[in-house]
Amino acid sequence: MISFNDTEIAFSSKRDSDLKRAYYLFKLVASPSFVKTGKSLINLAFKLHLPVKSAIRSTVFNHFCGGETLEESKKVIGQLLKYNVKSILDYSVEGKETEADFNRSLKQALTTIQFASKTKGIPFTVFKPTAMGRFELLEKVNQKEELTEAEKEEWNKVITRFDKVCAMAHEYGIPVMVDAEESWIQDAADELVLDMMRKYNKERVIVYNTLQMYRHDRLAYMKELFTESEKGNFFLGLKIVRGAYMEKERDRAKEMGYDSPIQKNKLATDRDYNLALEFATENFEQIALCAGTHNEESAMYLTELMDKYNIRVDHPQVYFSQLYGMSDHISFNLSKHGYNVVKYVPYGPIREVMPYLIRRAEENTSVSGQTGRELSLIMEEMKRRRKR
Ligand SMILES: Cc1cc2nc3c(=O)[nH]c(=O)nc-3n(C[C@H](O)[C@H](O)[C@H](O)COP(=O)(O)OP(=O)(O)OC[C@H]3O[C@@H](n4cnc5c(N)ncnc54)[C@H](O)[C@@H]3O)c2cc1C
Repeated sequence: MISFNDTEIAFSSKRDSDLKRAYYLFKLVASPSFVKTGKSLINLAFKLHLPVKSAIRSTVFNHFCGGETLEESKKVIGQLLKYNVKSILDYSVEGKETEADFNRSLKQALTTIQFASKTKGIPFTVFKPTAMGRFELLEKVNQKEELTEAEKEEWNKVITRFDKVCAMAHEYGIPVMVDAEESWIQDAADELVLDMMRKYNKERVIVYNTLQMYRHDRLAYMKELFTESEKGNFFLGLKIVRGAYMEKERDRAKEMGYDSPIQKNKLATDRDYNLALEFATENFEQIALCAGTHNEESAMYLTELMDKYNIRVDHPQVYFSQLYGMSDHISFNLSKHGYNVVKYVPYGPIREVMPYLIRRAEENTSVSGQTGRELSLIMEEMKRRRKR
């Protein structure tokens, strides 16, 4: 039976110096005031063109990112692959607004697919809907508002960008995942991704959508998608996550006076998360699943479901996924037992990936929960190595 407590396996890819860096990093980010001050100082340092890049690179960047470029990320990809852990390269440049930015993102997404097809250990690529089109436009389409002629033209370009990425994914046989974002743009993104699934998932799954189970309507949507896929004769690709924008969702709903799309409590999110895993594994011949989670119980539950439905551990329709730099105890113990594991490996210019890094730091500013668990495992492994 698999255990996530084996720290020797969990940190087998980490040298003593990597472990020490991880220890100090998680210790530091556990302090909310440090993260708050650090965030302001870093932003200021970049504005003043101070030479902070190398300090960031040797600490937080190297811990959470593959490199500044695809080529630079090869080392991390190779290192993970030694332990049978694969990579999804995630071009983590966010908050873009112009057509030139979106065309650059498109180019990057296409290059990443080509790179994945030539490099071992990259079974998927990923992109965010807001990397391909303007947030406000997605919002307008989501609300089914009338578009101006210029906006219609702009929207057609967004559709074309989605299509180009999915067509290339299909051509090269490298499936692509589309991340989920805020609920007030998600219907528009869902419609686009569904069209892509209809078009490119005829023989096997090439396009995956993401379902955020912190939304109380997603289990019903999953079942709707399943019916659609049966009717339309295509396969369903689903990345199942809990969801990353809870506070923002709740605040907006409160401010604008509508019912929050978020579940009443964590228990309800956990329940739906596990029900989604159950539904996917029950129907694994039709649904390809990627469980994006750092939750040990969910990961464990998925191994039990695979056993229950006689799905072999390395079945290509079932993947476990964690972020690079987090929850190695889950990733490496699963891969050691033969399960398919893929890490999200962000890459991009240091300055551009700062929002991603700051988010990682912010979500770890609590010694309870995830950070506490990461820290205690790191400390346990450091102790074990000292005793050797
Ligand atoms: C590989 C991968 C890909 C991801 N892709 C996406 C993506 O495309 N879109 C996206 O939004 N996120 C994405 N995430 C982030 C993910 O949604 C979660 O924020 C993160 O993984 C933490 O959830 P967890 O399953 O690891 O477990 P846990 O740490 O057990 O759960 C924490 C999560 O539970 C939910 N939660 C916490 N408190 C409450 C509460 N009071 N009420 C209701 N729900 C609550 C929230 O979603 C919170 O993030 C991804 C994560 C991974 C690992």
